[in-house]
Amino acid sequence: MALCRTVFSSLIFFALTGCAAIDETAPETAHDNTDAVIWLQSSTEYAAATAGVYAAATTALQGMAQTAASPTSGMAIVLDVDETVLDNSPYQGQLVFDDANYGTESWDRWVALRTAAEVPGVVDFIRSAQSLGFHVVFITNRPCRARPDSTDVCPQIEDTRVNLEAIGIDTSLTTIYLRGQRPPESCRALLTTEEQADGTWSQSDKTSRRACVGLDREIVMLFGDQMGDFTEEHGASGRQTAADFDENWGRTWFMLPNPTYGGWKPRTPAEKRALMRGID
Ligand SMILES: [Mg+2]
Repeated sequence: MALCRTVFSSLIFFALTGCAAIDETAPETAHDNTDAVIWLQSSTEYAAATAGVYAAATTALQGMAQTAASPTSGMAIVLDVDETVLDNSPYQGQLVFDDANYGTESWDRWVALRTAAEVPGVVDFIRSAQSLGFHVVFITNRPCRARPDSTDVCPQIEDTRVNLEAIGIDTSLTTIYLRGQRPPESCRALLTTEEQADGTWSQSDKTSRRACVGLDREIVMLFGDQMGDFTEEHGASGRQTAADFDENWGRTWFMLPNPTYGGWKPRTPAEKRALMRGID
C-alpha cells in the first residue's frame, strides 16, 4: 500500500493498479497516530523525558523556596492538565482502534471515566511543591459540557478533581479552572471581550485565567504541552518561536512532550509535505 501513497486522481490509474486515490487535502484518520500513541504508552524514553522535566523543576523550586523574599504561600505553580498531569493516551489509542478522530462526545465519555494515569514524575513534583508551601493551580481547556443526566453545568470539574485525587494529588488546597467555567466574582473584570458574552472562561486562550490566579499570587512556574499553556504572544509554530523564550525554558517554563496532537501537527498529507524537509 505504501507505493499507493502518491497522489493519483485518475480513476484510470486506480483501475489499472488497484491503488486507492489519496486525497492530499483530506484530514488523515486516527491510525496516523499509531506510533505517537505507542511512544507515549510504552517507551522508556517518554517516561524518562517527563520524569526529567519534573525532577529539574523540583530542584528549581527548592532553590526558589530557599531564596524567596516572601512566603511561598503567595506563589502559584500553574499546570495544564492533559498530557501535562494526566495521560490521556488510552483515549488516543481507542481512536486508533476505532479509526475515529477526536470528538467532543467521545472525549467527554473518557473524561467521565476519571481513569487517566499520571504523566510520569508529576505527582512527586506536586507533592514537593505543596510541601514547600506553593499553591498549585490547574488551568485546562477541558470543556465544561452539561450532561443529560445531571443539572451540573460543568460536571467535568469534579471528574478532573477526582481523577487528580486518584493519581495521588491532594486537591483540597488546589485550584482548578476549566474552559467554560464561571470565574469567581473577583475575576469577572478580567474576562476578554469574547468571554464577557456569556460570563464564562469560554475561550481556549488561558490569559484571563492566568490573570485571575495572578490577582492573589505571583505565578512562578508554568507547565504545559502546548505554547498556549505559557503565552499567546508568540510567533508561528517552529524552532524560532521556542528560541524566543530560551531564558524561560527549564527555569520557570517547563514543556512536556506530546507527539499525539497540538497546534504543531499538520492535519493532511499536503500539509505534512509542506512542513517536512529533506536533504538540501
Ligand atoms: Mg495539554
